[in-house]
Amino acid sequence: MRYLILSDIHANLTALDAVLEAAKGKWDKAVCLGDLVGYGPDPNEVVEKIQSLKAVTIRGNHDKGVSDLTHSEDFNPVARAVLLWTHDQLRPENRAYIENLPKGSKPVDDFSIVHGSFLDEDEYVFSPMLAYEDLLESPTPVAFFGHTHIQGGFVLRGEEVSVLSSKPMPGKMIFPLTIEPKIKYLLNPGSVGQPRDGDPRAGFAIADLQHHLVEFWRVPYDIGEVQLRMAHAGLPEPLILRLTFGR
Ligand code: ZN
Repeated sequence: MRYLILSDIHANLTALDAVLEAAKGKWDKAVCLGDLVGYGPDPNEVVEKIQSLKAVTIRGNHDKGVSDLTHSEDFNPVARAVLLWTHDQLRPENRAYIENLPKGSKPVDDFSIVHGSFLDEDEYVFSPMLAYEDLLESPTPVAFFGHTHIQGGFVLRGEEVSVLSSKPMPGKMIFPLTIEPKIKYLLNPGSVGQPRDGDPRAGFAIADLQHHLVEFWRVPYDIGEVQLRMAHAGLPEPLILRLTFGR
């Protein structure tokens, strides 16, 4: 079974479409690690597309924020402004879908998915120290997380955690990672709709654990088109600009 691993789409339909085009015919089942909405201009379209994929999906902090605006104080002013805008834009049936997304972590066949971390769905796993606790907590040798928008992750060999910078180089679209026995992996597919690791291309992963393989992908998409739609919707300028740089 080949899995398409999506995370942090953030209402960016153009990026999601580019990902689905690149991944066409290469996966059997889709999973989504949360943050379908927030930041981007296409919340309804992204929610409907994820539903059409029948993806196993858990909620992210933006999905939680848009479902219950009392959480909106947890967000910075820019993110909060988009949260309120998204709340107004979502059609009732799409908001109901977001509200009913389950909280992670969640087992999916022989791996697990979380938005932030196993200990706290809102935690950012940036450092090996945080990853260590999470790797111990993970019930499966391979787990996927999102939230940081940084493709790559962490591996635990014995007691030692190391950082995995498994990103395709500029000009390359795929970085293949061989999954080895007796090692635990906490892997981030990267963000589809708002990368923050310096590569503006949409990030995702394809996992085929029966064949011990995880591919990390980056695909270009029409960033300018999304930025125009964001400007049209009156979304905050810093969010429009950061897509250019992937920061
Ligand atoms: Zn996110």
